[in-house]
Amino acid sequence: MKQILIKNAYVVSMNEKREIYNNGSILIENDLIKAIGKVDEKSIIDTAEIIDAKGKIVLPGLINTHVHLSQQLGRGIADDVDLLTWLRERVWPYESNFDYESSLISSTACCVEMIKSGVTTFLEAGGQYVEAMAEAVKNTGIRAALSKSVMDEGIGLPTNWIKTADEEIQVQKELFDKYNNTADGRIKIWFGLRTIFNNSDDLIIKTKKIADELNTGIHMHIAEIAAENDYVKTNRGNSTVEHLHKLGALGPNLLAVHTVWLTDREIDLFRLYDVKVSHNPAAAMKVVLGFARIPEMLEKGLSVSIGTDGAPSNNRMDMMREMYLTSLIHKGRTLNPKVVPAEQVLEMATINGAKCALLEREIGSLEVGKKADLIILNPNTIHSLPLHDPIANIVYTMSSENVESTMCNGKWLMKNREILVLNESNLIEQVKIKSEEIKTKAKIVLPNRFPVIDII
Ligand SMILES: [Zn+2]
Repeated sequence: MKQILIKNAYVVSMNEKREIYNNGSILIENDLIKAIGKVDEKSIIDTAEIIDAKGKIVLPGLINTHVHLSQQLGRGIADDVDLLTWLRERVWPYESNFDYESSLISSTACCVEMIKSGVTTFLEAGGQYVEAMAEAVKNTGIRAALSKSVMDEGIGLPTNWIKTADEEIQVQKELFDKYNNTADGRIKIWFGLRTIFNNSDDLIIKTKKIADELNTGIHMHIAEIAAENDYVKTNRGNSTVEHLHKLGALGPNLLAVHTVWLTDREIDLFRLYDVKVSHNPAAAMKVVLGFARIPEMLEKGLSVSIGTDGAPSNNRMDMMREMYLTSLIHKGRTLNPKVVPAEQVLEMATINGAKCALLEREIGSLEVGKKADLIILNPNTIHSLPLHDPIANIVYTMSSENVESTMCNGKWLMKNREILVLNESNLIEQVKIKSEEIKTKAKIVLPNRFPVIDII
């Protein structure tokens, strides 16, 4: 048996009552939380690792509900361009030149960046090499729900990506059988629907049916841009959400990402069917999708969580930064300083994220019997002191540099800012080499923004 005791910390539990244990302790036994608050000294074994976290904050691990692992090496290939250029001329050519090895490096780098920003669970939107993604998750020790990028129709797609609906379902079913609940249960396999532009009604209906049968989730970009609703109205007779409703595809296992262009009725439909929402503020602004009606959704009781989206559309996979943006953009949009306050943002990044991950009973808060997924924040930096209002400080002031240690499933993935699961310097070298290689293969040439003079 392995025990870890973290003591003298400011423990933010995010339990039902949102209790905070000042000068509290948390005892971890193997992969589970054994005790929290006041820990009986008699229950601690001699070999226990003891961490004195005086002056530090312990939080549940953050949950990033929208990630594109395979886009990590494409960071910086599509800045300051419109969405269609972003997609068709930059990201698709880039991603379609991926192979297993590049996908593994991309995924590993993305996982490590997330661990360094305090993420212990993420939901992957869908890549081409789920096997490589699973290997990265297994190696880095993080928790994830992975899905394949699924497309059976649409214009402008790389030809090697288009499959039939039945082929897509079959491949995902095989991935589910092979990987779901592997890596000590850290890996879940979900079904993917890329967007309604690229998914037929047949595929949507079949996806919903099999996801329900296997009791797993569906990850889909929904109502991302205004033109999406126009396209669906013209081609299928209704807006995306109304159309999904007609197909019977709305349900508690559907994660709707972005959801920028929803009507009041569509928000009500989401509530009625308990559809989960991933809000991605940075991507929504950078790729100019628009401002999702998050305060309205929260007010109606929807499970709204936070995602970073992929590296070319953010460009950081940094949940600390994303929490800050989440609060700010809605204050700015509504001209109301009280909307989406810090405590609500923290709920979105933790317990709401767990609901969206369909793992509320296992993660999202620090409670006895839940998985030991947690982070230690060190507020003792010049940019984050003084600590007058700790919860607000986490959201508005701290950055990923304040994440001192990250634990997932009872195991330290990062301790005192050092990644323990792999050699980070080696990984950095691999990222540099592989990203250049793919850029060349995909024939992506970026214009210089200022005159560059090569000095020989
Ligand atoms: Zn996305």
